[in-house]
Amino acid sequence: MSSTIAVLAGDGIGPEIIAEAIKVIDCLRSDFGFEVELKPAAVGGAGYDQAGDPLPEATLEICKACDAILFGAIGGLEYDGLERELRPEKGLLRLRSSLSLFANLRPALLYPQLADASSLKNELVAGLDIMIVRELTGGIYFGQPRGIRVTESGEREGFNTLVYAEHEIERIARSAFDIAMLRNQKLCSVDKANVLEVSELWRELVTRIGKDYPEVELSHMYVDNAAMQLVRAPKQFDVIVTTNMFGDILSDTAAMLTGSIGMLPSASLDINGKGMYEPIHGSAPDIAGRGLANPLATILSLAMMLRYSLQRPDLAELIDTAVGNVLNQGFRTADIADGGHSVSTSEMGDAVVAALSTLKQLS
Ligand code: NAD
Repeated sequence: MSSTIAVLAGDGIGPEIIAEAIKVIDCLRSDFGFEVELKPAAVGGAGYDQAGDPLPEATLEICKACDAILFGAIGGLEYDGLERELRPEKGLLRLRSSLSLFANLRPALLYPQLADASSLKNELVAGLDIMIVRELTGGIYFGQPRGIRVTESGEREGFNTLVYAEHEIERIARSAFDIAMLRNQKLCSVDKANVLEVSELWRELVTRIGKDYPEVELSHMYVDNAAMQLVRAPKQFDVIVTTNMFGDILSDTAAMLTGSIGMLPSASLDINGKGMYEPIHGSAPDIAGRGLANPLATILSLAMMLRYSLQRPDLAELIDTAVGNVLNQGFRTADIADGGHSVSTSEMGDAVVAALSTLKQLS
């Protein structure tokens, strides 16, 4: 069955890294019989330039109609002076909320070839492979009321609301258990149930949903301890599920354990498993247009798409293996070259395609 993918390249290095992911898609088409239709659309600064809106209506319609979305990156200095609603970042936030992409999956996987790039000692991170499942559309970032008000004493106070409804906790818990089932059947739920009532409810519901997944070993951890454990003994984790703000912080911590931002993919899924797939980095205006960007995070985001939205784990596995092979062969873009010889963005994409073709010949 043919799939449709919306392709939103965006700004800065976005078009460069997406071009390399498209090379990989073309290879899957020609060598592995992958049937797919690509639907390019403008977003971010490119959307503003084209239609005066960082998320043009036509782009949103294409995204709604497709099976999955491949997203590059948005943002650029030239747009920073625009009013807030018209800035590129707003287009991305609107896209996530319009499509109800509530489950954010952030793997932190350390390739053995890049172990020296980690901020931790080799023995602590060798073989690291964690998946953080962060709730993305609720919690304190969205809770009402919020604002800055003047109290009776004339002093200003800022306030936000941390609120989670049962259905929001239940659906993120189910997503996390489903992902744990696809991995090592081990899930750690991170909360602050010793202090927060919201967390008390969170823990109760995650435990209840866990009864539907008897194969999954569920544990609970307070967020302060989880932060400590992530830098003390990160390999104890397999899948972590947590709230929006805790996940924001913990996933960045976990990302740094693996070295380069140019290697890390992500997925944001809705209730039906439809998703948007993007590298975790931004549009990197400092290196845009110079062939310096690492396309691997985007190519690995494509692998996540094949695994989580397009039900092609076989092709996802091939891409993961091909990326491992090009690293074994010594290919490095500048961000992971540690000052040594480096290849350009397109040379790295070509290397992944060549590695895929080799895998085809071996099969
Ligand atoms: P950034 O992630 O774009 O860049 C941070 C640093 O990492 C830079 O030095 C950059 O050169 C480097 N880098 C990033 N991606 C790389 C890659 N693939 N290969 C090699 N090096 C890479 O973050 P920033 O500089 O804080 O933000 C730049 C712009 O991106 C801003 O407009 C910001 O709003 C936007 N942004 C967008 C997203 C997104 O599209 N999801 C995320 C974060 C930031």
